[in-house]
Amino acid sequence: MSQILYYSTNKKAGKVSFRNALLKGLAPDGGLYMPESIPQFTREEIAALSTKEYYEIAFDVAKKFLHDLIPDEELLALVKDAYNYPVPLEKVYEKNYVMRLDQGPTASFKDFAARMMGRLMQYFLKQENRNMLILTATSGDTGSAIANAFYGLDNIHVVILYPKTEVTDRQRKQMTTLQKNVQILALDGKFDDCQALVKQAFNDSELDYLNLSSANSINIGRLIPQSMYYIYAYSRLCDITRDEEIIFSVPSGNFGDLMGGLIASKMGLPVKKFVVATNENDEVPEYFKTGNYKTIVPSLNCISSAMNVGHPSNMARVVALFGGVMNEHGEVIKVPDMDKMKEEMFTISISDQETLETLKKVKERHDILLEPHGSVGWTGLRHYFNMHPEDRRADQVAVCLETAHPAKFPKEIHDILQIEPELPESLKGLEDKEEQFIAIRNDYPAFKHFLKENY
Ligand SMILES: *Cc1c(COP(=O)(O)O)cnc(C)c1O
Repeated sequence: MSQILYYSTNKKAGKVSFRNALLKGLAPDGGLYMPESIPQFTREEIAALSTKEYYEIAFDVAKKFLHDLIPDEELLALVKDAYNYPVPLEKVYEKNYVMRLDQGPTASFKDFAARMMGRLMQYFLKQENRNMLILTATSGDTGSAIANAFYGLDNIHVVILYPKTEVTDRQRKQMTTLQKNVQILALDGKFDDCQALVKQAFNDSELDYLNLSSANSINIGRLIPQSMYYIYAYSRLCDITRDEEIIFSVPSGNFGDLMGGLIASKMGLPVKKFVVATNENDEVPEYFKTGNYKTIVPSLNCISSAMNVGHPSNMARVVALFGGVMNEHGEVIKVPDMDKMKEEMFTISISDQETLETLKKVKERHDILLEPHGSVGWTGLRHYFNMHPEDRRADQVAVCLETAHPAKFPKEIHDILQIEPELPESLKGLEDKEEQFIAIRNDYPAFKHFLKENY
């Protein structure tokens, strides 16, 4: 088999290998990398997954994309290390499930992508005997996901800037109690100031020697891992020899999660429909309705805060997958096959009010505790079934992705249900751990000096 190459969604840069796409992140023309062909699973291969563990399925998927870039034993060890936590599928009723993607170290589904990306980067850097410095600005959650994903890895250092007064105690502790190769900087400024410093460092040629990377959510190394849990869910709940099809509901913000699902489906997974549920930031549902894509600036502040996105960066990939071109500003350069997109996806925007009502209803009726993001997904799925009664059969398998742990949203949950969600293991004991961070001024020369002195 020949290697899969990766093209830029802006179509103005050359194709590169997986390794280059992974270590570069963004293509030089500002586009996102996409595989030029999507590897296939045969029906027999999918049938064989039903007895495999999560990490073995992850191995099979990664192997399809990587071919022989990483020897089998090393790839297997890598996925086993990345996926050392459970992936519960909780039955709500009949064949309707919630897949809890919240058992990783930061109790968010972002752990799936970030942990794999970190380990893939470590592999290639080690091979070349090179180091990399991950530099990220965070307003809270991204920072802890990145810090945890890269924690303890070789050849990679991590520096995270957060606005001193703008993150919660728990968010800060999730970053500052790690140490080792993870350095946290508390900036006397706002999130935008953190971002500005990071951007300036990336554009500073005197820092080229640091081999800076942002490891952000558009990296191809995060996309492939996000297809694995869709395949896993199918392998646990459906039988391909009986031609069973599955429905997924995906609470969406930047559309990376959904892209993973679409890739799984293009690999041959029998998906009947993706329910794509957004919060009140409804630019994508509107696009499906009207054919006009309009970004929302600034994005609306909804309770499902990780989905407050007015222009999802991964839309460029979704559009590319359906034959179109969308640039980084959200301009549609070439119209995708909208009919096909509508056939595969049902898009819907859910209000905060309905999100909370659903959260309450699902707890009271089914004794299942969701959090705001998962509740957006579950509400979207209810709407889909109401509008498509033909699919509302007792034997139709449907899975709603629950992307975060309820304990991360104690206030919202307490307000509506008057209960305190129990902390998962990963978030326990943070209070007792020692914190370490360095306070810095909002001043580029001081920040640059810090980087040059320490790395
Ligand atoms: C990031 C995030 C989402 C949205 O995922 P996208 O890939 O950006 O669409 C949903 N829920 C939670 C908890 C998240 O952190």
